[in-house]
Amino acid sequence: MNDEQLLRYSRHILLSQVGIEGQERVLGARALVIGAGGLGSPAALYLAAAGVGHITLVDGDSVDLTNLQRQILHTPATIGRPKVESGRETLARFNAEVEIVTVERRIEGEALDGLVSRADVVLDCSDNFPTRHAINRACVRAAKPLVSGAAIRFDGQVSVFDLRERANPCYACLFPETAVPEEERCAVMGVFAPLTGIIGTIQAAEALKLLIGAGESLTGRLLLLDALAMRFREVRIRKDAACEACGSAVVSAS
Ligand SMILES: [Zn+2]
Repeated sequence: MNDEQLLRYSRHILLSQVGIEGQERVLGARALVIGAGGLGSPAALYLAAAGVGHITLVDGDSVDLTNLQRQILHTPATIGRPKVESGRETLARFNAEVEIVTVERRIEGEALDGLVSRADVVLDCSDNFPTRHAINRACVRAAKPLVSGAAIRFDGQVSVFDLRERANPCYACLFPETAVPEEERCAVMGVFAPLTGIIGTIQAAEALKLLIGAGESLTGRLLLLDALAMRFREVRIRKDAACEACGSAVVSAS
């Protein structure tokens, strides 16, 4: 780190759990942020401000007037432009040292596997179950830590699926793909603006802790927020041996 970086990140370096070593890990890290909307906006902003060296931002949508109520990467000036471009410009204004790679489409298959395998941490800031399950499978295959968030109406949830360890549960252990949960997207449902900020910011916090190797992550715990009552609660997530994404049948077959 040069003198300017030592100053810029001094309030992190002063934390004994981070220090120079931890901040250097952050500066050298690669984060994959899938979704540049309500969750991806605060998540990517905090990762960039904290100095995460490489951020890949993935989103196939363009900025719409209805996004601005909560998607703080975007402004009235970027309406109609791809969210990843709008996001890259905003992030670069916060921290020009961060390398930002943009992918302007919904990714799946081999392209998704490639992006996940190059990342140190993956943030699922998407808004639909098929994408969530595709990201989870790619993280299982590449044994990468996944930080998953969701926000709808006044309800938020966030967890970490640290798939570097085979014993840890994955997203599909919690929400099996076959269960076909009712599709609820904030693209069509209401969502309380700061709720996406709270959940996305928790995702950034968990991602940074994983990169630094500090503290205890949300692995095996689903954190639920009722923003109307402003109450957090927590439920245990157990690994499902019969899970179609990470279970013993999948592992022995591969
Ligand atoms: Zn699983």
